[in-house]
Amino acid sequence: MSAFVDVVVIGAGAAGLASVQALTAGGLTSVVLEADSHVGGRAYTEIMPDGTPFDLGCHWMHSASLNPFVETADALGVRYQRREGYGLSAFYRNDRWLNDAEVAAGFQAMEAREAAVAAAWSQGRDQSVLDTVEREDPWTEYLDYFDTLNTSSDVDQISIGDLISYHDTEENWPVVDGYGTLVSRWGAHVPVSLNTAATAVSWGQSGVTVETARGQIQAKCAVITVSTGVLSSSDIRFVPELPPEKQAAIAALPLGNYNRIRLEIDRHVFPDDLAERVVVERPGYPPMQISLGAYGFNCAIGHVAGRYADWLEQAGTAASRETVIEALCHVFGNDLRAEVKSDRQSAWRGNSFIRGAYSTSAPGQFHQRSMLAQPVADRLFFCGEATSTDHFCTCHGARITGERVAREIQLVLVDKP
Ligand SMILES: Cc1cc2nc3c(=O)[nH]c(=O)nc-3n(C[C@H](O)[C@H](O)[C@H](O)COP(=O)(O)OP(=O)(O)OC[C@H]3O[C@@H](n4cnc5c(N)ncnc54)[C@H](O)[C@@H]3O)c2cc1C
Repeated sequence: MSAFVDVVVIGAGAAGLASVQALTAGGLTSVVLEADSHVGGRAYTEIMPDGTPFDLGCHWMHSASLNPFVETADALGVRYQRREGYGLSAFYRNDRWLNDAEVAAGFQAMEAREAAVAAAWSQGRDQSVLDTVEREDPWTEYLDYFDTLNTSSDVDQISIGDLISYHDTEENWPVVDGYGTLVSRWGAHVPVSLNTAATAVSWGQSGVTVETARGQIQAKCAVITVSTGVLSSSDIRFVPELPPEKQAAIAALPLGNYNRIRLEIDRHVFPDDLAERVVVERPGYPPMQISLGAYGFNCAIGHVAGRYADWLEQAGTAASRETVIEALCHVFGNDLRAEVKSDRQSAWRGNSFIRGAYSTSAPGQFHQRSMLAQPVADRLFFCGEATSTDHFCTCHGARITGERVAREIQLVLVDKP
């Protein structure tokens, strides 16, 4: 492989696919390199043996009225559900279901928490969630878990800037056919060189050269879409090294972890009138949200995040499966164990092309999202979820940053005299 093009795009996730589509529409030539054997990156749907889709990564079209993937899904006939919030949850704590008044107290605790975060931020304090919120409320452990699911990091590792700045319209619409299916169908016409990892990027006044095991690509500039987990590893060597301020931004936006553990189990095992999701709190374990038989599929999906997800991923698939089964047995009784047929799990930390789930601003570092988004010498252009300042950690956020980078390149390569 060897080529000379206007732009070389590294990574074919939502950001990379968006950037190349916009670059092509603007008349620029490009090559897209993707290390993995499929496009989509963290948008990845696997079809289970019973034919049902399972999203290992993104599943919800967040902030739906601002989310360009809604229109794409409509155009492609990909099925999704319109909802307010996330739909109904039931809470099981201290060996019983919580009643409506107790759950209402949980919403009040959440509002108080949001107010504390907003107050600290308005005083100019970029600090951790841990240092900002009430620690003694009965709901603290659950609300910590909720923040950890949303950011993939534990509350001592999250800047309150991430909670404040995320643009949430509270419309979270699940993609029934799979968000990964949606992204791969949207990008299906984009020519991508699969199984082609970029190993080195040389950049300077004359342009950019990207090395791969299959040859070299020369271009006027490069779009870097890989995760901050990949950027902080030595997988891609930059020659010369990235400027110190860029390296500092990468280090300040590490990936946390978030895994989905799916058990194949007949949905009729669960009571018909139960909410679609249960949150199980039991002594000695972090809370766990488990989706039950969503969309009529025969499965239960446990959601684990933060350090606990890392710990479970390292403990292995048998331990992870057991953790979800135990949580279910705690609520529904031990007979349930015999109903579990098989399991499938994500393992994002161990995925060497991603190295975690999504980016978190470390306390004091929220401003680094803007820094990461800055181009270097009009040669290296950065996009991907971590570079968004209001839709970070999301698939549509990644897409929007890919479109932003294409505009930046258009200005440099086409519109400048
Ligand atoms: C468990 C989980 C749940 C999530 N849930 C949601 C959700 O419900 N809704 C939502 O909106 N978002 C969700 N997200 C986040 C969302 O999936 C991501 O923010 C988004 O997909 C990131 O897209 P990206 O293009 O920035 O990065 P990526 O998808 O990581 O794309 C980067 C690409 O670069 C490739 N690459 C890496 N190294 C190289 C190399 N050396 N050379 C060439 N290519 C390389 C990778 O293989 C990858 O394909 C979730 C993520 C996870 C992990």
